[in-house]
Amino acid sequence: MRKTLIAGNWKMNNDVEASLKLVESLKSLSKDFDSNVDVLICPAFTSLYSVKEALKGTNINIGAQNMHFEDKGAYTGEISPVMLKNMGIEYVIIGHSERRQYFNETDETVNKKLKAALKHNIRPILCVGETLEQRECGVEKETVKNQITNDFAGIEKCEAENIVVAYEPIWAIGTGKTASSAQANEMASFIRMCVKDIYDLELSEKIIIQYGGSVNKDNASEILSQSDIDGALVGGASLKAESFLDIINYAK
Ligand code: PGA
Repeated sequence: MRKTLIAGNWKMNNDVEASLKLVESLKSLSKDFDSNVDVLICPAFTSLYSVKEALKGTNINIGAQNMHFEDKGAYTGEISPVMLKNMGIEYVIIGHSERRQYFNETDETVNKKLKAALKHNIRPILCVGETLEQRECGVEKETVKNQITNDFAGIEKCEAENIVVAYEPIWAIGTGKTASSAQANEMASFIRMCVKDIYDLELSEKIIIQYGGSVNKDNASEILSQSDIDGALVGGASLKAESFLDIINYAK
């Protein structure tokens, strides 16, 4: 019932030339993707427009990695949801742990950004996940539950169903350490339960939950076969066309 979403988060990599080269490799190596898999790439802001243009006529979607919650104004260095929508951007990553960690994003700003994205019909990918310390102390579920509760606060059910949740344990991001498929699935089903507590069973069964954190072509198959995991948010392995396409193929 739920569609699989494989998203590539390029982070602060690839200038315009390198971005276009990567898109060309993706286009030349890929056949048409299975209709049950949505594919998304999220380049840096500077490459968004060129990549968007280069993706015309393909079924690869495009997303941004962040945005401000205000429509416009005196916020030097920021990009608004209106600007993204105007450019035809379909998705936006919100609350990535790197933004929470290095740029002081809190559940309060994440909540505002989610509401702003939904208001402008940009589909948000909300990232949640615990630190290694929190997992070692046994408070990983409590941590994720708090994030879900605060991040979804005040969002109506009809809007909430458009939010994709990415469970990304911080200790697994860029470290080469993946959560075991059992750990990832356990948290995904726990997130579904949190969503059920806030809304209802219907929404909890409908919401798309990805796993992210050192996903690569070797572990993707097992992770993507888990019952509560509907896709992957891929960092490092999305920077090479072959490895990203291998992961997409496992999703079929
Ligand atoms: P990684 O990053 O795949 O390089 O671990 C994932 C992410 O941060 O979204």
